[in-house]
Amino acid sequence: MTPDGNDLPQGDILIRNNSIVAIGEHLSAPGANIIEAKGSFVLPGFVDAHSHLWVTTQRGQFRNGAGKFFPVSSALGKAMQPEDIHTAIYTGALELLNGGVTTSGDFFDNIHAPAWGDAGFRALQEAGIRAIMFYGGPDKTTRYPIDITHAASLARRHDPRVSVGLAWRLPRQLADEQNWAMRDREYQWAKQHSLPLQVHVSGEADAMFNALIDRHYLASFVTVVHATDARAAQLEALETAGASLVVTPVSEQRVGYGLTRIDHFKGVSRFGLGIDGNSLAGSGDMYANLRLAALTMSGAAADETRPDPRQLLKMATLGGAQALGLEKETGSLAVGKRADIQIISPDTLSMSGFGGGDPAALLLYSAQPQNVTTVIVDGRVLKQNGTLSGVDLAEVLADAQRSAEAIRQRAAQTTPTAP
Ligand SMILES: [Zn+2]
Repeated sequence: MTPDGNDLPQGDILIRNNSIVAIGEHLSAPGANIIEAKGSFVLPGFVDAHSHLWVTTQRGQFRNGAGKFFPVSSALGKAMQPEDIHTAIYTGALELLNGGVTTSGDFFDNIHAPAWGDAGFRALQEAGIRAIMFYGGPDKTTRYPIDITHAASLARRHDPRVSVGLAWRLPRQLADEQNWAMRDREYQWAKQHSLPLQVHVSGEADAMFNALIDRHYLASFVTVVHATDARAAQLEALETAGASLVVTPVSEQRVGYGLTRIDHFKGVSRFGLGIDGNSLAGSGDMYANLRLAALTMSGAAADETRPDPRQLLKMATLGGAQALGLEKETGSLAVGKRADIQIISPDTLSMSGFGGGDPAALLLYSAQPQNVTTVIVDGRVLKQNGTLSGVDLAEVLADAQRSAEAIRQRAAQTTPTAP
């Protein structure tokens, strides 16, 4: 996935401790544990550059008409206790890992009090995924400040895989200067501590993007999310400021932001893809996002040849890592990087009949999470032979269902349900 990177038709990857120490043919490593990948594809783990894992236990709740995502997820989010947060984020992270996603930029905008933040952080640690937990406020309004004191205490833990960023929002009313003052304090805090910051640009996207530009908030530690119909001048300002951009093809089209035209953003060098919440996207499947992005591109351009499969795979790996500022650690298979790896076996009916050709096209159009047989994060084998290591799946699923039911019950007692 690097600009000078070539495919190795056959080869070995040597991992020592957390990192890739050699890549080549016939490497010698006496005494090493060997994971046989003959006949399979070895790729860097995917980077889900923007997500909301706390909505994982809201699957099937958004029904496009009877219950839109924003009001429904907000009402259910209010009814979540810290243990529900833990369940949702843990389950969601496992789903990502299962499908070859080794890094998540988790925009956690449902932190009612420190215990909620702690539960989310712990869930990410326990799942074993690499993550930036973007610490947010108690809900999606912009009435309340973000608890930066608690966010700072989590950042000081210096966990090797889970770090902290800021889940920032622009004032709901863009003319509300008092709210801007509050938001500015949060922004300056992130800047001062060199923490990454993500911000949605959606809804009143054009005015929001202009506000970011006019108030000089675009910077290298800032990631803009969505900006579906951003104008060329706005994207140029983002690029000049060294900021990054993440789009989330499935969720953007589901909630009606418009068509996610990947080619629209080709001038942005730090550009990644996100799932934006497993339940909103339907599943935590990066392959499904890649496919939709490719099909939207060819459909909108009426040109079958427009999508470049390798370019799309790069967006989902190195591109996402660059968008999160994690490209030194992850996003490609290269000596010195952390060992974040997925192995994809084509031994399923859905990938059958490949007799040579472009493996990138095969992966883009045919691979599914079930083809991901092995997942390694930071040198730790978290999935092997198609099974998540050390996970009692039946218990995880039962816990997720129990929590989802309890959340709905609590929410029904406090908020009127939509007809
Ligand atoms: Zn989002």
